Amino acid sequence: MENIIVFCETRNGELCDVSLELVTKARLLAEELGCKVDAIVIGKEVSSLSKTLFEYGINRVFCADDERLSEYLTLPYTRIVTSVVAEQHPQIFLAGATNVGRDLAPRVAAELQCGLTADCTELRIGECEDTAGVKHENILLQIRPNFVGNQLTTIVSTSSRPQMATMREGVVSKQRVDNPVAGEIITINTQSLLTEEDFAVSILKREVEARKSNLKGAKVVVAGGYGVGSRENFELLYRLAELLHGEVGSTRAAVDAGYCDHSTMIGQTGVTVRPKLYIAVGISGQVQHTVGMEKSGTIISINRDPEAPINKIADYVIVGDARECVTHLIDQLSK
Ligand SMILES: Cc1cc2nc3c(=O)[nH]c(=O)nc-3n(C[C@H](O)[C@H](O)[C@H](O)COP(=O)(O)OP(=O)(O)OC[C@H]3O[C@@H](n4cnc5c(N)ncnc54)[C@H](O)[C@@H]3O)c2cc1C
Repeated sequence: MENIIVFCETRNGELCDVSLELVTKARLLAEELGCKVDAIVIGKEVSSLSKTLFEYGINRVFCADDERLSEYLTLPYTRIVTSVVAEQHPQIFLAGATNVGRDLAPRVAAELQCGLTADCTELRIGECEDTAGVKHENILLQIRPNFVGNQLTTIVSTSSRPQMATMREGVVSKQRVDNPVAGEIITINTQSLLTEEDFAVSILKREVEARKSNLKGAKVVVAGGYGVGSRENFELLYRLAELLHGEVGSTRAAVDAGYCDHSTMIGQTGVTVRPKLYIAVGISGQVQHTVGMEKSGTIISINRDPEAPINKIADYVIVGDARECVTHLIDQLSK
């Protein structure tokens, strides 16, 4: 059976976490399918990264080692990935749902005339029946939040190959295999593959904004929603997070209301977190938010509505006013 191919993104010469998470997920899918996982890595001096990929169970690494490709460039990256995928005919192609993956994957899908599900939060192997009543087995179930309502949607590609998806960062834990694979490095000849036209765009200057917080790696997250009520009340969450050595997160509704910065947003279009403790203050628990935090260790919900959907996934529920409860917690913890 054909393999799975993962596009592995690099930053500053290192493999990105999302790529190692994807490789781990791809390995689990491949075990079910009885196939192997290959990777594509593009950049300057990237061949040395293959060793790490073999430790994650990758079978073959397609390497495009070229100093002109040290930074992501749409046209040459698309050409390289499209050419490998067209030649290898994988049954599944995966990329991270990052800025790069969101730029690259749709172009590869368009070139290969395949479907693509963006921003998946879960991938599984299963079966389905199409509209003509034909049953499909061993198909990739591509799961992501719906655009409207509190629902998850499963999308399948029954007719086009490869089945293509981008997956959110942080939804799977990266995991090495017990014994590294004696894998193979396949060198891509970029000199013959790429043309001058592929380099029509060049990066003149790059400015990187430093992260304001370490939300993704935090052990404790105090997250506030629209129910927090004001920017002033949100300051209390920062105090509580400080006492618990944690970080502050938020919902889209809280960001839209101007209570907090966009960089704190958790969920489908924000950061994915999996802390040991997640305190959800004034958050209703819509799926677009919960996909970004449901794998947290212990979840405490503070909400004045006992029927709020988040209470169904919470380990502890405190029914009460956000400001009152948070002030009380701060007082107690300060003692
Ligand atoms: C395509 C798309 C992508 C999206 N992406 C994201 C995303 O990444 N992240 C995200 O968070 N959302 C996202 N959303 C929005 C999401 O659907 C919800 O609208 C949002 O998560 C709701 O935020 P909330 O829970 O803060 O607000 P609400 O749904 O308004 O809930 C407020 C909660 O506060 C409680 N409350 C009110 N007053 C108090 C009080 N005084 N004390 C205690 N509790 C109180 C209420 O009972 C309620 O449960 C997205 C939506 C779409 C369509």
